[in-house]
Amino acid sequence: MKDTVTIVTGGSQGIGRSIAEFLAAKGGDVVIFDIADSSDIVQYIRQKGQRSEFYQIDVSNFNMVGEAVDKVIKDMGRVSNLVNNAGITADKLLLRMKEEDWDRVLQINLKSAFNCTKAVVRYMLKTGGSIVNISSIAGVMGNAGQANYAASKAGLIGFTKSVAREYGERGIRVNAVAPGFIKTRMTESLDEKSRETMFKAIPLGRLGEPDDIAHVVYFLLSEYGSYITGEVINVNGGLYM
Ligand code: NAP
Repeated sequence: MKDTVTIVTGGSQGIGRSIAEFLAAKGGDVVIFDIADSSDIVQYIRQKGQRSEFYQIDVSNFNMVGEAVDKVIKDMGRVSNLVNNAGITADKLLLRMKEEDWDRVLQINLKSAFNCTKAVVRYMLKTGGSIVNISSIAGVMGNAGQANYAASKAGLIGFTKSVAREYGERGIRVNAVAPGFIKTRMTESLDEKSRETMFKAIPLGRLGEPDDIAHVVYFLLSEYGSYITGEVINVNGGLYM
């Protein structure tokens, strides 16, 4: 990742934080876009010898994202990669789901990827680049109680393939990673019984670690993934295959 600048959205914790730390450990500079304070991770990355900046923004806000990407170019000189990772859930069965539950999840999980991708592709047209969208197993196979979330994550897959087709010849690769159940704040509310049922359904017999996702994102962003675009990689311990 030497001489690369990667923007990671939602990088203050969970999967995004793991991705940011792993890319920095591989020698890349990392910029975090998060609504939460991320100064501790920025400090951590700088101590390891890489450049790092943090912009406290809501990635579902089109104008904020455009301004932040311009600032990245000014501060860091380039943007080589983007990881659209920020995401939320607002789970309810369809009949109980409110319009605002639908809108909020679609705005933060899907529109944010449009905002960030559109803003970086302007620059990547000249330099090439690589983009990874963090989808979900729910977007691939659906999940009761997550119609809004699954729709946003399935939407990311269509978005990934379309942008990959549009800009492949300009040297921009776009891929998606679809995690299964990963140990983060998002899944910590699972009770013991659901956890046990889950373990039985996962052939590898464990929940995923955030690093399991970070390693695959690194592979896709790095030269090892240089002939891969428009692909969706499932990282779920075999829960869906
Ligand atoms: P997480 O621990 O909740 O982290 C998500 C991060 O995104 C948080 O730092 C959050 O900030 C930030 N964020 C939320 N809304 C934002 C916004 N509007 N603008 C900027 N930042 C925002 O979640 P995670 O488990 O690491 O998940 C990361 C991604 O992986 C998500 O897209 C998720 O859907 C996907 N995924 C996760 C799993 C899993 O099992 N964990 C499985 C499949 C897919 P706050 O702390 O302020 O909310």
